[in-house]
Amino acid sequence: FKVPEIHNEPMRSYAPGSEERKALKAAIAELEQTLPLEVPCIVNGKPIKTGKLAKQPLPHDHANHLATYHEADEATVKAAIDGALAAKADWEAMPWSDRAAIFLKAADLVSGKYRYKLMAATMLGQGKNAWQAEIDAAAELTDFLRFGVKYVEELYSIQPPRNSAGSWNRMEYRALEGFVFAVSPFNFTAIGGNLCATPALVGNVVVWKPSPAATYSNYLIYKIFEEAGVPAGVIQFIPGPPAEVAAQVISHPSFVALHFTGSTFVFKKLWRDVGANIDNYKSYPRLVGETGGKNFHLVHKSAEVKNAVLQTIRGAFEYQGQKCSALSRLYVPSSLWSNGFKDQLLTEVAKLKVGPYAEWTNFIGPVIGRPAFDKITGYIQKAKEAGGEILIGGTGDDSKGYYIQPTVILTKDPKSVTMVEEIFGPVITVFVYEDDDYEKTLELIDTTTSYGLTGSIFATDRKALLQATNKLRNAAGNVYYNEKCTGAVVGQQPFGGARGSGTNDKAGSMAIFYRFVSARSIKENF
Ligand code: GLU
Repeated sequence: FKVPEIHNEPMRSYAPGSEERKALKAAIAELEQTLPLEVPCIVNGKPIKTGKLAKQPLPHDHANHLATYHEADEATVKAAIDGALAAKADWEAMPWSDRAAIFLKAADLVSGKYRYKLMAATMLGQGKNAWQAEIDAAAELTDFLRFGVKYVEELYSIQPPRNSAGSWNRMEYRALEGFVFAVSPFNFTAIGGNLCATPALVGNVVVWKPSPAATYSNYLIYKIFEEAGVPAGVIQFIPGPPAEVAAQVISHPSFVALHFTGSTFVFKKLWRDVGANIDNYKSYPRLVGETGGKNFHLVHKSAEVKNAVLQTIRGAFEYQGQKCSALSRLYVPSSLWSNGFKDQLLTEVAKLKVGPYAEWTNFIGPVIGRPAFDKITGYIQKAKEAGGEILIGGTGDDSKGYYIQPTVILTKDPKSVTMVEEIFGPVITVFVYEDDDYEKTLELIDTTTSYGLTGSIFATDRKALLQATNKLRNAAGNVYYNEKCTGAVVGQQPFGGARGSGTNDKAGSMAIFYRFVSARSIKENF
């Protein structure tokens, strides 16, 4: 069989009065009426209510919560691992066309029947506005599933190119021997689905610990997988205290891969834990991680200012800057800065409205929770203490929800703390360089942080683009010309970076599937 041609899921506009806006509003209203929800762990297809309760608060209204969920305890984690290993043989032996059909059906359920429900869960629980929820929970998740099927088909078709007379060489792409541990973040609902679907598509079983702040939307994804036909036990849903769950899972002898998106700090911690357990495993575990970023926009003196300003605002402030890919350091030449760039930037930022999803005109919603609010406002404070000038924003209001005004900081010190460390909030720091110092600025961009995720170069002069691209070889795994540094599209811009930003295995491409198979070469003589 052949998987039909795959296209990216078309985006819906949610224009006032549109059918999709009405449908989404209805899904939001329905969800609001049922709060708080109760979310169990799911092991072997059965809900488990451990009674160890935790809350997923509403970022826009922290006195209330979206869901109460049952945290996995030790016995539940053990049952999840045992059950996954027991489900493995059948899942792996299932014809590939059936696994493909299951995930193609899941994609249809995401893009159709459950689109607005998933979006509503993402808006309420993770503080997204409708358009940010659409690109994530509707479009990207659908794309991950559909393109995933296509990529696996391509992978399986890669075969040794030569046979000698009288023989046939072939490659078999086995699933890994053990179970995969998926640890997913709050900031993209789609990533939770993808961290499970990628290994599962190639026949692996997955023990999934979602982010506490995305428990409900991720639970819905689990239910969609189940409805699409993923057999019980193949994906085990175990929200729980992250450190305890991880410690137990990683010390299991059949742990064979980590599929992770989250902070650099946690990924390094898990990596060390794997190292400490290395003698206990049957195989060397595959560690696949996408972590932090300190992403840049570099504006050259030949750039179109209006576009660079618009892209800067989108890259920095969409979803409150809570994307690994979000822009956080901006380099502008002095000739442009004082001739329009600064004024346009501040004028446009001043127009951005901050507030809850319920008012459809808000560009910026709440940040995810108390620790995020404190961390971000703490960085603004540190920047001030280091001599940074707050050009706009700089304040927060946590009386009802966790709101932070979009903030632009001007620094004279290109290595000041907010130029170096990841903030994960609606804050950018600007360094104005002398027009003639373009080359020096490239060196600065390359050496300022330990990350290497995304970066954009704004220039109409192709030589300037080329020079930056060459010099910044390792500073970003995703580079954009004259466009913001966020919003990689599955099937178009494979996503990921190296250095402190992860293992750069490129989500949304075929490359990542290699990490979850263990190939066997077979030679047959006739
Ligand atoms: N893929 C997303 C983007 O390009 C970012 C994913 C993340 O934040 O982990 O904006």
